[in-house]
Amino acid sequence: MNIDELKTKEGLVKALKAEDFSPYTSLADKIRKDHKGDQVFIRAIIEYSSICVQDCNYCGLRTSNADAQRYRMTKEEVCRTAEKAVEAGYRTIVLQGGEDPVFLRQGILEETIKRVKAKDPEVAITISAGQLTETELKRLRELGADRYLMKHETADPNLYSQLHPGMGVGDRIEGLWQIKKQGFETGSGFMVGLPGQTLEIIAQDLLLLKKLACDMAGIGPFIPHPKTPLANEKAGSLELTKRCLALARILLPDANLPVTTALGVLSQEAMKEAFSCGANVIMHKVNDEEYRRAYELYPGKIQVTSIEDERRQVEDLIKSLGRIPV
Ligand code: SAH
Ligand code: SF4
Repeated sequence: MNIDELKTKEGLVKALKAEDFSPYTSLADKIRKDHKGDQVFIRAIIEYSSICVQDCNYCGLRTSNADAQRYRMTKEEVCRTAEKAVEAGYRTIVLQGGEDPVFLRQGILEETIKRVKAKDPEVAITISAGQLTETELKRLRELGADRYLMKHETADPNLYSQLHPGMGVGDRIEGLWQIKKQGFETGSGFMVGLPGQTLEIIAQDLLLLKKLACDMAGIGPFIPHPKTPLANEKAGSLELTKRCLALARILLPDANLPVTTALGVLSQEAMKEAFSCGANVIMHKVNDEEYRRAYELYPGKIQVTSIEDERRQVEDLIKSLGRIPV
């Protein structure tokens, strides 16, 4: 294996289709250990709105899906959920939602940032609200939001435009540079196994993460949603997703790489395996059951107990892998 080769598209394609990928996995695991240690960060994710004006072909919340259950949390609900998550031990709150301009106008993200930071400035806030304007980003950053997550989804211009009618990947990438410019820790990422995606495109995805020098990268399998145009497509494979994760770790030794929720949809085992391919973060939903069911980007099993119990379960899973939950 030649690591320098991984800086090129051809080298990455060769690695992605290697008959024996195990040397890459071992290297990724070693780099993860050397650069990030054995800690696994557990992030609490609050999905504040299932209303979305976008129409991404793969997503259950797309505006054309008339069967989606729509909700918009109130200021009190979001703040209270964030506070409960912090009380349960979470040190990062991720505020995510569909692109919902009405929610954004209500100032709820701002209020939540203020309240969480007033209680404990050390708790990190991540926003994942889609493409915002420079002014909106600046305001959230000034109030103390630390990180921003917006996956590029696919780096291929044609595939991007097919999946996002009327949109271009250039704007998405420009948006990511803007996020960086505002001083956020910046997260991008992509889906693995999108219909029409080739290994060359995945290589481009990985090179884009490197070019952006992402602080975080969410890489997860595409999961078909029955109420979308991609309903009859195949889900992304676990093996290819693991390979992408490992290569991302080799290219970005210091990045935070989550095991995505979509991977958990494939299986619990899949999630565990991803931790040996370079991952060092896990996101866990903390909303009540009703909202969790409604926030269906892709179908998956939902088992809700309590914020505290679920956090303990995630900690146990991490400990069972010989890692340290944080
Ligand atoms: N609306 C915001 C954040 C919510 S969507 C945004 O789009 O940026 C969060 C992520 O869910 C997206 O970035 C996408 O990668 C992922 N997603 C949506 N539908 C999916 C599907 N069918 N399979 C896998 N991931 C999906
Ligand atoms: Fe909306 Fe995000 Fe789903 Fe696209 S991926 S439809 S922007 S929630």
